[in-house]
Amino acid sequence: MTFQPGDALLIVDVQPDFCPGGALPIERGDEVVPVLNRAIAAARAAGVPVFASRDWHPRGHLSFAERGGPWPAHCIQDTPGAAFHPQLQLPADVRVVTKGTRFDKDQYSAFDETGLAEELRREKVRRVWIGGLAEDVCVKATALSAREAGFEVHVLAEATRPVTREGGQAAREELRNAGVIIESS
Ligand SMILES: [Zn+2]
Repeated sequence: MTFQPGDALLIVDVQPDFCPGGALPIERGDEVVPVLNRAIAAARAAGVPVFASRDWHPRGHLSFAERGGPWPAHCIQDTPGAAFHPQLQLPADVRVVTKGTRFDKDQYSAFDETGLAEELRREKVRRVWIGGLAEDVCVKATALSAREAGFEVHVLAEATRPVTREGGQAAREELRNAGVIIESS
């Protein structure tokens, strides 16, 4: 990938709980880390800002099965599973986007009431490159909202993994239909 002024790299939810051994593991989820590290290095070399979102739930969040939600408990605030993946080489000036903190709703998209679109516009970003976890949940929701907010959106296929293979296929089709460019290397 070639970054240029007006770009931003947005890394979605690369946290141990979404990787093998975590509370809500995505098959081969950890394989996105080296790919994203190369993207981070390229973004840094081009002077392009790096944003990283994290799922950051209070205990007993309504998205958890214990509350009737769809997911096992995951990414509980200040637990190791909610940290950024230890091998992810985030720059010191990474902009962290925290979501999933509300008691009354879940947030799949890094743009959902976080102010991210406004921040990207303030930085004169026009094109957003997205990777992370999971392709058919938070990456999809984030890419769709980025399109809705008017950004050109590229999803790095090698830098994301789906919860299910079928979900991944459906997500890529939905993203393409929304005008998102799927970048496969
Ligand atoms: Zn969550």
